Amino acid sequence: MKFPDDQDEPAAAPAPTFGRHCRLLLLLTSTSLALTLAGALAFISKDSDLPPYMLLTGAGLGLALVSCTWEIARLRRITRAHALAMVGTNDGMWEWDPISKELKVGKRLLNILGYADNFLGNTGQWIELVHPDDRAGYNEAVATHLKGLTPHFYHEYRVRAEDGAYRWLAARGVAQRNGRGVARLMAGSITDITERRADEARIRYLAHHDALTGLPNRGQLMEQAPRLIARAAGRGDMLGVLFVDLDRFKTINDAMGHSVGDILLKGVARRISEALRPLDQVYRQGGDEFIAVLPEIRGASDAGHVAERILEAITRPMREAGLELHTTATIGIALFPADGGDTETLLRNADTAMYAAKARGGANCHFFSEQMNERLQRRVSLEAALRNAIAAGELELHYQPQVSVSDGRVVGVEALLRWHHDGCFIPPDHFIPVAEETGMIHAIGDWVLDTAIAQAACWHAEYALPPRIAINLSPRQFWHGGLAQGILQRLHNHKVPPESIELEVTESVLIQPEGPAIGELRALRQHGLHLALDDFGTGYSSLSYLRNLPVNRLKIDKSFIFPLAGSHTENPEDAAAIVRAIIAMAHSLSLSVVAEGVETTEHLHALRHMGCDLYQGYLLSPALPARQFAETFLRPA
Ligand code: C2E
Ligand code: CA
Ligand code: CA
Repeated sequence: MKFPDDQDEPAAAPAPTFGRHCRLLLLLTSTSLALTLAGALAFISKDSDLPPYMLLTGAGLGLALVSCTWEIARLRRITRAHALAMVGTNDGMWEWDPISKELKVGKRLLNILGYADNFLGNTGQWIELVHPDDRAGYNEAVATHLKGLTPHFYHEYRVRAEDGAYRWLAARGVAQRNGRGVARLMAGSITDITERRADEARIRYLAHHDALTGLPNRGQLMEQAPRLIARAAGRGDMLGVLFVDLDRFKTINDAMGHSVGDILLKGVARRISEALRPLDQVYRQGGDEFIAVLPEIRGASDAGHVAERILEAITRPMREAGLELHTTATIGIALFPADGGDTETLLRNADTAMYAAKARGGANCHFFSEQMNERLQRRVSLEAALRNAIAAGELELHYQPQVSVSDGRVVGVEALLRWHHDGCFIPPDHFIPVAEETGMIHAIGDWVLDTAIAQAACWHAEYALPPRIAINLSPRQFWHGGLAQGILQRLHNHKVPPESIELEVTESVLIQPEGPAIGELRALRQHGLHLALDDFGTGYSSLSYLRNLPVNRLKIDKSFIFPLAGSHTENPEDAAAIVRAIIAMAHSLSLSVVAEGVETTEHLHALRHMGCDLYQGYLLSPALPARQFAETFLRPA
């Protein structure tokens, strides 16, 4: 039997049920023709031996012949329409006999799968091609329809094509049943839905994965973690949750650009994945945060080892796109069941542990402990109080004199921020990092600039030879741009000469030598402001930075001054050698030097001997409130 197909002549192609009708009609037609002929001959030859019922039967069958011929014509019309419809569709046709298991498929279907004609003979061969994972579902869908439980048969499944790849097919069809409802034939069509399935899979993938790194995203984490926790609980296993956060990623991103930041994140994602055990899974939580879930660990040390491997992998220099990138990470670890019984608690506690590790300088890992929660509580209340500090009038600037080593004249003053909250003094080393992390440093930095420049204007009006005021700037204050403009505007508003202001920056402002900060600093320098490099010796202390920088002063960090003298000093000669070298180098670059933390006359003598220009320290005075500073150190005009 031929099956309608686009290559076939449509009129010649019988419909699925046409063959059976045809055979029946042929039988009826030939019988009736024989009987009618016999009857007619008997009548003509007047041979009345022929019984009359034969004549009657012949006539009846003659009538049947006419109606059958008419029926054939009708079926042919239907068949032609059926075949034309097949030609018009893009679908592959099939017909299947549930009893003999004989299967017939159209050329279109064979084309979809890339097989030659008559490749498939029976159900068994077809089932062989169905994807093993889809066989049970397919068989069930067919059986359900054969039993009459579904009005139509519809099923989507994968079938192996000639090239070995699986194609997704949507099969639809319907069974023809006999009077007792038993299916005698099933026929229908098949559509290739491989593209649609691929699109759907891609959409699903995008919804569950981070587009940049390709890692499963937070949504996936929140979906999968509860299952992993439940499984661990069922088996009595431990499970580790690692909160991985890159150190100083924001600085890198801002200084080197987002495209470099993206390259770094992709590299980090790959490195973390490689450092994990096959069972583990890493998710991108967002930004520079990654979460690793470690099922089936035997104890804290297993989680610790994985964390160490991740840290080590991230720390190795990354060579990507012609760049050499360096970064470190900090990891907080929470364990199930000890540190939490559900996803939220475990994530929160791993996050808390990560913060505790950051507070220790980062680039390490830390297990969660209950005390951390208390520390976190303190930090949260500090943040809340700081948010309100400016409005509550709790901030104040104190001023510490900077004195010429050679003649003891007060030539400068450093403005240092003081915060009194609820009757307590909170040191700037505690709250400035919080202000920097939360971005509050912008408002606080603006307040410092306003206050210090207004103070300069006041001293200029009231005192003879007012000292230059040194103001500390946090690197983050440069991020938004416009810092130089804002400072110049304030100087203009208060009629303060730019030369009477010095700005103290640390080397971290210069991660990228040609970044925005350098431009702003150059502009400020060109307008006559002074620039000092603070905490020299504690950071990169790169000479090439120094040469490119528009600074006129170096400040030697107090940690280098303390060892110059005093009972705690193990090796004052080494300390002196370092300070002497810094001073010589600064002078060779035409920079003057301020030593901070000068507490004793021994310190001062040593510095004088080395040719240091200025000093500040408790030897002369701590930072004082503005009025007290003026009374002690300034002479009315
Ligand atoms: P810094 O800029 O290195 O400031 C010098 C620090 O040394 C000040 O601490 C000062 O009080 C202290 N100091 C001065 N002389 C001596 C001494 O003889 N012995 C000892 N042991 N310490 C001395 P302070 O005021 O606690 O400030 C700490 C840090 O907070 C500053 O370090 C600075 O980095 C930051 N900071 C302070 N005020 C501001 C501000 O207005 N803006 C910004 N961005 N940071 C500030
Ligand atoms: Ca300073
Ligand atoms: Ca300093």
